[in-house]
Amino acid sequence: LYPNDLSPIPKPPPASLSKRSTFDLFSLKGKICVVTGAARERGIGYAAAEAYCEAGAKGVAIWDYNDPSEAAKKLSEKHHTDVRAYKVDVSTDKSVKEAINQVVKDFGTIDVFVANAGVVWETGSILNPENDNDKDWHHLMDVDLNGVYYCAKNVGKIFKKQKSGAMVITASMSGLIVNFPNLQTPYNVAKAACIHMTKSLAVEFAQFGARINCVCPGYMDTGLSDFLDKKILDTWCQMIPAGRQGVNKELAGAYLYLATDAASYTNGAALVVDGGYCCP
Ligand code: NAD
Repeated sequence: LYPNDLSPIPKPPPASLSKRSTFDLFSLKGKICVVTGAARERGIGYAAAEAYCEAGAKGVAIWDYNDPSEAAKKLSEKHHTDVRAYKVDVSTDKSVKEAINQVVKDFGTIDVFVANAGVVWETGSILNPENDNDKDWHHLMDVDLNGVYYCAKNVGKIFKKQKSGAMVITASMSGLIVNFPNLQTPYNVAKAACIHMTKSLAVEFAQFGARINCVCPGYMDTGLSDFLDKKILDTWCQMIPAGRQGVNKELAGAYLYLATDAASYTNGAALVVDGGYCCP
């Protein structure tokens, strides 16, 4: 199972890299990208998909549980990119497998995959006796953790075969720290697991020339936390050194970097983009 000789095998950096300009390393020219959870214009997935269009991707597939056709139409008209919509439930392996096969059928391959779809925990404390915590816990894990696993497993096989590929997972700063007052234990647990899945898979992906990293956003004004009591949100926001929530465009650069050759030596990283929240 394990190699007999564990000493690192020296490999030279790809010669083509040093010949390209830094600006060119951020290009996605000719690449096929998939972004899950990208139906909402205010959302993180939409900003990542838009960045990929702007970086010259040949095709972008946007997946969502809610029909992402409108978002696909908007992006493709604005950027003259082949953006296609796929209605997918990432919480089942069958749905993920079918969608991956369909994208490969439509575009020929997958070079970049962003596992971004997610739900939040709206139930409050797991100790709250009125809540049906078990059902909610399983639903959150099915989307935020198992969904990422199904994506990584299925796209990883493609990356292994083609000996290249970049995956980006949307984790959260909630996978690194716990805010006060804590009301979202299951979410924190799922996102922490995503960070460790990133690191574990990075070691495997590296063996066949692919990479996997995650982004840990802080409080973003995407609509996902609109359900929250304003008082709680204000309490949390007061602790952001930047003094405000972020907007999706402020994450686009992170998703672009991790998807491109600019990050060819970045593997297993958890890139925190949180206005400084995790610093104190
Ligand atoms: P968003 O609501 O725009 O994005 C989430 C998307 O996931 C939605 O479009 C939703 O329809 C989709 N989705 C939900 N369940 C799905 C399923 N089973 N299959 C396919 N799609 C499904 O909100 P967002 O803030 O952009 O969230 C994107 C990701 O960022 C999530 O994983 C979230 O946990 C993470 N995140 C958000 C914040 C924040 O403050 N907004 C902070 C850290 C991490």
